[in-house]
Amino acid sequence: MTNYDILVVGGGPGGYIAAVTAAKYGFSVALIEKEAQAGGGLGGTCLNRGCIPSKTWLDNAETIERVKQASKRGIDAQVVNIDMPAMVKFKDRVVKRLSMGVGALLKSWNVAVYNGTAVVHDLDNVVVTSAKDKENEVVLGCKRLILATGSRPATIPIPGADLPQVLTSDDIFNIQTIPPHLTIVGGGVIGVEMARIFSAFGSKVTIVEALPRLAPNLDEEVADALLKSLKSAKVTVKTGVKVEAIEPADSDAEVNVVVSCNDVTERIPAETVLMAVGRAPNTEAFSELGLEMNRRFVKVDPNTLKTSRQDVYAIGDITGLSMLAHSASVMGERAAKVAVQSLNGSDSEEFYPFPIDYAAIPSVVYGEPSAASVGMSQQAAEEYCAKNSLTLSIGRTIFGGNGRAVASGMGEGFVKILVASGDCQTRILGIHIYGPMASELINEASVLVNGGADVKSLASVVHAHPTFGETLSIALHDALGGSSHQPPKK
Ligand SMILES: Cc1cc2nc3c(=O)[nH]c(=O)nc-3n(C[C@H](O)[C@H](O)[C@H](O)COP(=O)(O)OP(=O)(O)OC[C@H]3O[C@@H](n4cnc5c(N)ncnc54)[C@H](O)[C@@H]3O)c2cc1C
Repeated sequence: MTNYDILVVGGGPGGYIAAVTAAKYGFSVALIEKEAQAGGGLGGTCLNRGCIPSKTWLDNAETIERVKQASKRGIDAQVVNIDMPAMVKFKDRVVKRLSMGVGALLKSWNVAVYNGTAVVHDLDNVVVTSAKDKENEVVLGCKRLILATGSRPATIPIPGADLPQVLTSDDIFNIQTIPPHLTIVGGGVIGVEMARIFSAFGSKVTIVEALPRLAPNLDEEVADALLKSLKSAKVTVKTGVKVEAIEPADSDAEVNVVVSCNDVTERIPAETVLMAVGRAPNTEAFSELGLEMNRRFVKVDPNTLKTSRQDVYAIGDITGLSMLAHSASVMGERAAKVAVQSLNGSDSEEFYPFPIDYAAIPSVVYGEPSAASVGMSQQAAEEYCAKNSLTLSIGRTIFGGNGRAVASGMGEGFVKILVASGDCQTRILGIHIYGPMASELINEASVLVNGGADVKSLASVVHAHPTFGETLSIALHDALGGSSHQPPKK
């Protein structure tokens, strides 16, 4: 058996950041990843079947849309052909390059990488079985264990869910032909992004969602704007409908997605169905540890990421605290620091003086325009201010008045900043951006919400002109009494 100070199971954005952080402090660290292989495999769901493949194809979708709009700018251009196998190959090159980068990063910090599936019997008995060589097991031991096994696509138990035409996000990034009709079950972030991609590629896309509205975690105004943009891209959105079954249709290539609403049944024909109904945590590999669970997720202290066992930490998607790549990385860094402290025999919080503020982690629904949010939604901010006797001021501006956005042909959308005042300080509770470059602007918005400085001094920061980011400055001035760039507030 080989022993390490710290063992990490899972090589996604949670696991590899945890491993590197621990190694930086001089401890012996190993990472086990079942998909690691020469030339790739590291990086988890995010890099291999999630964030990066989807953004590569969203960029293709935006390129197609921009070519279609080019004639308005006096440029004659047209999309002659969309070569799906070539798009898959391009995505594979992007993934391989970044995944090799993760491998090089781990190597540079002397993290030992084991390629295989881990089963944790206990901390002195972690068995790694390689997919290539099932006979040859390796047994590892450790003083501290960080679990980062991530999640997989969830499914719904309906007849026909296992038909070959039904794909998940694990499969769709290898699709070789563009389906003429794509039905997406689930109107969350993944469903909306895939709808935007395939509608630009030429599929007739239908989203079916059981809840009354799309992307229910988003601020209502942002979700409404997103719905409008999907409709203008000719995506059919059916909310409040229940998927009953997926049935083979008359033609071999097709299926019918059977949905019902108020006792009315409808059959939606499609060559491909994407099941995007959420994610299920991968917890089987360590079930013998008997960790306390919170529904299907591993229960942790949100600040230290300690599980019900003091020497075991869990991070990322398996905790259900925030199912985003950057959240997994923040948790990975924190868990590694807490583990390092405990190996040093200290429980001081010197290494991690600030609690992780999950409410201030930004999230983005990508596409053109993107929807990006940080902090409270308007509805939550209204309730919070009413409860705490605070005054809520809402600052707004539109991209239609932003020089850079209009020059770029992207003058659709708005910025909304929610500012609370009334106690000793003025605080920004939330920022919502629906528009061009929202996924970039949200990083500055996160600094504002995280409250690194007082709001009035933030408002005095000069923004370069012409930039998309000027909208943040204008909306903040608007919340604080009015911006000279806008007509009087009504
Ligand atoms: C289509 C899609 C798009 C997404 N887009 C975004 C986005 O734009 N931005 C964003 O922030 N998030 C996005 N996400 C979510 C993001 O991918 C996850 O939140 C993130 O990957 C979670 O990181 P993790 O480290 O917890 O787990 P994962 O990334 O899932 O990594 C877990 C790793 O553990 C390995 N593993 C599991 N069990 C074992 C075992 N027994 N032994 C060894 N290895 C094991 C797995 O192979 C995997 O590599 C997207 C997800 C999907 C599906």
